[in-house]
Amino acid sequence: MASFTFKAAAQVVFMVLAVTLPPQAVEGLTVGKEQREFDYFVLALQWPGSSCRNVSMCCPTNGCCHRAELPAEFTIHGLWPQYQDKGWPSCCTNETFNENEVSSLFEDLERYWPSYRCGLVSSCSNRKGSFWAHQYEKHGTCGSPVILHQYDYFFTTLALFFNYNVTEALEEADIIASDTKKYGIEDVFRAVRSAFKANPKITCGKKGIIKELRLCFDKEFQLIDCDATKSCPKFVSLPEFHELSKPAMVKRAIPRMIDVEAIM
Ligand code: 5GP
Repeated sequence: MASFTFKAAAQVVFMVLAVTLPPQAVEGLTVGKEQREFDYFVLALQWPGSSCRNVSMCCPTNGCCHRAELPAEFTIHGLWPQYQDKGWPSCCTNETFNENEVSSLFEDLERYWPSYRCGLVSSCSNRKGSFWAHQYEKHGTCGSPVILHQYDYFFTTLALFFNYNVTEALEEADIIASDTKKYGIEDVFRAVRSAFKANPKITCGKKGIIKELRLCFDKEFQLIDCDATKSCPKFVSLPEFHELSKPAMVKRAIPRMIDVEAIM
């Protein structure tokens, strides 16, 4: 299977890259405001059971609408260059996302990096684009001097995602999707720490549903502790994913990104 092949290859290639890639020359352009080089990366992962909770409209690009047969697992939100003290750079160059450059990764991107919305997302300079375009243009263009090309941005993010399987780490501690169980937030931290020896950052929504789990990496892709600010209550949950009802499935369809680009 293509995705298995990529997954295995990515793990090997990533391990080699992680130990051998020296920082390259800085060539990131700053657009608009002064932005300095970032300090570390955040790999932000979202929980479909939470992200899809309030989705009522379906379209071919909305991952909530065709997740039914997929396992309950975190999916990718983005890889975000960050500043140590506070904040993050954004929209660092004028480069625009080009689907063709990542076409070999489509199968994995569609499965592991789905959008959970319909319609296009605002990107830099008031452009509109797909979820992937938004992530690359807003965050990926700020990866210099470590990540300089869009293929590398998407490849590296997938490789990190496969190498650090957060869903499995939680399952090891019996923390699984459930509409009835609550888990101690400290147990969730402990499960991730025991798998990866680093503290994640966890964000929660109403009633303590876990929305995102984030892992932090230095510029050589070694795991580091994320900042310790807390947004979750003492007890949290990982809601199950529920298939959308049939009438919602047909309401609106938007063309694939490649068609959208053609008509813009
Ligand atoms: P987006 O998908 O637009 O990148 O981000 C969605 C939400 O994630 C934002 O409203 C913001 O709260 C949070 N977010 C976006 N980028 C970053 C980032 O680089 N670092 C952190 N900590 N949060 C971010």
